[in-house]
Amino acid sequence: MFDVLIVGGGLVGAALACGLRHSPWRVGIVEPRSEYLQGNFGSDMRTSAVAWGSVLYWQSIGLWQEMLAAGATPMHKIIITDGDAPTTVCLEAKDMGVDALGYVVPNQVTLSTLWRTLRSASNVEIICPARVTGVELGEAAVQVAVTREGGTEVLSTKLLVAADGKHSFLREKVGIKTDRRYYDQACVVLRVQIANPHHNVAYERFRSTGTFAVLPLGDNQCGVVWTVKQTAVDEVLQLDRETIEAELQRRFPPPLGKVSLLSPHLTYYTPQWLHAQQYVKHRFLLIGDAAHTTSPLAGQGMNLGIRDVACLRQLLYQAKDPGAPTVLQEYERQRYWDNLGVISLTDFSNRLFSNELWWCQVIRQVGLNFLHLPLVKQPFMYFMMGMHCAPQYCEKVPALS
Ligand SMILES: Cc1cc2nc3c(=O)[nH]c(=O)nc-3n(C[C@H](O)[C@H](O)[C@H](O)COP(=O)(O)OP(=O)(O)OC[C@H]3O[C@@H](n4cnc5c(N)ncnc54)[C@H](O)[C@@H]3O)c2cc1C
Repeated sequence: MFDVLIVGGGLVGAALACGLRHSPWRVGIVEPRSEYLQGNFGSDMRTSAVAWGSVLYWQSIGLWQEMLAAGATPMHKIIITDGDAPTTVCLEAKDMGVDALGYVVPNQVTLSTLWRTLRSASNVEIICPARVTGVELGEAAVQVAVTREGGTEVLSTKLLVAADGKHSFLREKVGIKTDRRYYDQACVVLRVQIANPHHNVAYERFRSTGTFAVLPLGDNQCGVVWTVKQTAVDEVLQLDRETIEAELQRRFPPPLGKVSLLSPHLTYYTPQWLHAQQYVKHRFLLIGDAAHTTSPLAGQGMNLGIRDVACLRQLLYQAKDPGAPTVLQEYERQRYWDNLGVISLTDFSNRLFSNELWWCQVIRQVGLNFLHLPLVKQPFMYFMMGMHCAPQYCEKVPALS
């Protein structure tokens, strides 16, 4: 019998398993991707903007120094522009009295640090490659069907944690309903080399098709999220290298100089807005994208998932029974409105900025001008950096090294 069985070994599920590695609980983690076991994580060269609150969590579970050494780049400044309009907003780390607003970390660095740590955790069993194919919620335990190459076995656990992403099989299976919104957008992800130093500045330019984001990386490289209309994505993927570089150059901030494409191929993701109507059922809960999915526009998806993990870790360290109703209710109480608030604000921004209606353009300009006022800017940055709840989640739990 497991105490905690985590389904999904992505950024969020693996973060929880690592956070519980010195807990009294017997933990299992189920993941179908066999390449994770072989240490292969990075085929799409995706990067994530990691907010200050998430850095605090990585520090509290003793993994931040390793990630920093393996390739986390500090963001000192974020410059936001609205198409070709003159108003520019500049968010700076010094405005918040911190060294960095956050860090840009290749997902490959985060996942390889997490999985290396998991492999040496004595209370964590990695069940991989394997997929959860059935579930039955019960009074004293949950029965979970896990299918591997050799067949299917049934595992029991006191708490089942679904970290199986936005298409969550478990969420559907236990009958949790979701609210969803779709966008006519596709996010093309790629990496480039630039000629001039980026000085640790990230750029976000809103355009009618969606955002064009440039994130600073080591070795004078940048991660790029290039949002296009869904109908245009096939055309973009078929462009030859020279045309892609020319299109990027047209969109890139001029101070960064000449752009050269590094990604061997372009990949894309279809953004979606999704929120589960409830996060918990009997001895069962949702974390990360399984509970809430948002457009990558504000770089918040994984950061919210890490806040779920930090909150749950704290509750589990204090619990007598990991699946007790009090643990589940408290988790939902603490996480539901924070997640819904952030993903709703992201949805509002996406709709406001990705259209050309004259009155939306006026609201945008007024809104961006308001962001210059310290009274508006500082609370906004405080919220986006996760400062309003991250420290409280990392207290009262033993720090790990
Ligand atoms: C282009 C792009 C850019 C982004 N940039 C940022 C950013 O800058 N900052 C940020 O905070 N967020 C960002 N995000 C969002 C972030 O990537 C996600 O929120 C995050 O990856 C969610 O992690 P997760 O572990 O919840 O889900 P996933 O990463 O989807 O992991 C789910 C895991 O569950 C496994 N699984 C699925 N079904 C089963 C099953 N039946 N049994 C067992 N395992 C199963 C899958 O194999 C997978 O490994 C971005 C997203 C995109 C698309």
